[in-house]
Amino acid sequence: MTITIKCPVCRATNTFDGTNIICRRCKNDLTLLYQFKYHSYYNRLQTVMFLLHKNTKAAEDSLKKAAELAKEK
Ligand SMILES: [Zn+2]
Repeated sequence: MTITIKCPVCRATNTFDGTNIICRRCKNDLTLLYQFKYHSYYNRLQTVMFLLHKNTKAAEDSLKKAAELAKEK
């Protein structure tokens, strides 16, 4: 899975492919931002799984977590 994230320091768009976790332009460490994005994707997938199993309360909670993690300032 490829994750794209914008650097908060220089605003460069970076693509994470599992090997690079620093900004391609300013070399800022983006580890925490990638982790947030990853957890957001994970929660979205978990939401789908809960819906498939008709667990709507758990799906709603998981979706809220995903939405909160996906917010970019
Ligand atoms: Zn940067």
